[in-house]
Amino acid sequence: MFLGGGAVVLLLAGLAWRRRANGVSAVQAGDREPPRRVVVIGAGFGGLQAALELAARPDVDLTVIDSHNHHLFQPLLYQVATAALSPEDIASPIRGILPVSDRTRVLMATVTGVDTKARRVLCDSDAVSYDELIIASGSQPSYFGNECWAAAAPGLKSLKDALGLRQRILASLEQASDIGNAAERTRLLTFVLIGGGPTGVEMAGSIAELTRQMLARDYHSNPAQARIVLIEAGPRLLAEFPPDLSDAACRALATLGVEIRTGARVTGIEAGKVQLHDETIAAETVIWTAGTAATPVAEWLGVKPGRGGRIAVGTDLRVAGHADVYVIGDAALAVGADSKPLPGVAPVAKQQGHYVARAILRRLQGRRAPAAFVYRDYGTLAAIGRHKAVAKFGPVHLTGFLAWVTWAVAHIFFLIGFRNRVMVSAQWAFAYATNDRSGRVIVGRSKLRSGQPPVPKPGNSVMPPSTNSVAPVT
Ligand SMILES: Cc1cc2nc3c(=O)[nH]c(=O)nc-3n(C[C@H](O)[C@H](O)[C@H](O)COP(=O)(O)OP(=O)(O)OC[C@H]3O[C@@H](n4cnc5c(N)ncnc54)[C@H](O)[C@@H]3O)c2cc1C
Repeated sequence: MFLGGGAVVLLLAGLAWRRRANGVSAVQAGDREPPRRVVVIGAGFGGLQAALELAARPDVDLTVIDSHNHHLFQPLLYQVATAALSPEDIASPIRGILPVSDRTRVLMATVTGVDTKARRVLCDSDAVSYDELIIASGSQPSYFGNECWAAAAPGLKSLKDALGLRQRILASLEQASDIGNAAERTRLLTFVLIGGGPTGVEMAGSIAELTRQMLARDYHSNPAQARIVLIEAGPRLLAEFPPDLSDAACRALATLGVEIRTGARVTGIEAGKVQLHDETIAAETVIWTAGTAATPVAEWLGVKPGRGGRIAVGTDLRVAGHADVYVIGDAALAVGADSKPLPGVAPVAKQQGHYVARAILRRLQGRRAPAAFVYRDYGTLAAIGRHKAVAKFGPVHLTGFLAWVTWAVAHIFFLIGFRNRVMVSAQWAFAYATNDRSGRVIVGRSKLRSGQPPVPKPGNSVMPPSTNSVAPVT
């Protein structure tokens, strides 16, 4: 508004020169390029961020492919698994988030491969052509070569996993209340978590609160009967936090009655039991929170995977030898300013999603590529129960209630959708005031896994014969 006419002419001339300097000739009037076909695999944190910035652009033909119809806020999955929240509180339909139009499509399909020569994404139901591909398919639980442990120690990655674990925890309490055999009762009330990272710590605290509260209130039993064991192979919990915060987390968990075993290596897992080097723990519920590996992107692209199956990407987040393929989020192995791999956390995925959307738009506009991707770490948090947390914001370390309030506000802020923010805030406020959890519903009939016929308490009804499987969530 304040520029004179001469300045405007100079500015336009400068812009035209910049376009030529980048090797892009000015687009003639009436000589419009067809829209660029951009395909995004995965509508998690990274893919959704990129898709939101590319959707409804006249120069972009966008297709988002996901095997689920919803975006999932994984940081609160453990609250669904421990009956504090419902699945719909932390998931939103992708079609409700993206402005779907002729130029923006959502395809619910599972990607099985990528034909990089023909530039086609292969799905179970279809094949989709692309000019630019963003792979943001995330990670999956990894058992470090012991995949046979998966059935006995499920991980926590999807709503189905969370509901399966909730079912198992609630059914164990229910069955323990009706059993006379003391050893079997102890086994049913023992919950083992393998992996002392943020998910293991948050889940252990929440299971301790849930089971002890339910034993006391719903079953009129001694809450101390619930045994929660958190096993970590490394020397301390929350290895990615500074030692003072690891210590604070240990103290907070101990207050909730969680047994912590650091430096303990799991050597075997079978249905109903965990083997450590020098001890066997009988437990109906065993949860794997020890590690993840990338989805099979290396296989899709025919490239050698890096650590954890992740795909090494350059500072522009592209794969070497594939100028039209970006990999972001948990599936990518990108290094930070300290030359260490970036962590598999939501802010990395979101910032990378923003970066690749910007890179593609700049390329379309004939502008210079953005400078190298740099991750900005705004802080790390982990909650322990409903009152305490640990938080690190650069040199500032917070613990206790103040850290928990910060954790709660941050999670509400980053949840997708107004409805989810309201629902989660309301559920937390209600739970805080009443010390109650709404999701304590067992769906379907659950059976014991141990194979031992249950011995009923005198006077109680006879339980059905046990089988080797937990009833699936229906
Ligand atoms: C239990 C848990 C707790 C966590 N807590 C935190 C936390 O507190 N803070 C934090 O920052 N991070 C946390 N994380 C990590 C964070 O969720 C991930 O780093 C983040 O989700 C990675 O984003 P992404 O876009 O790479 O993948 P994701 O968000 O995992 O999204 C991947 C998407 O790809 C889809 N997909 C996968 N394979 C296919 C396929 N073959 N075909 C089609 N679609 C496919 C999936 O359905 C999914 O929608 C947590 C993770 C878990 C599991």
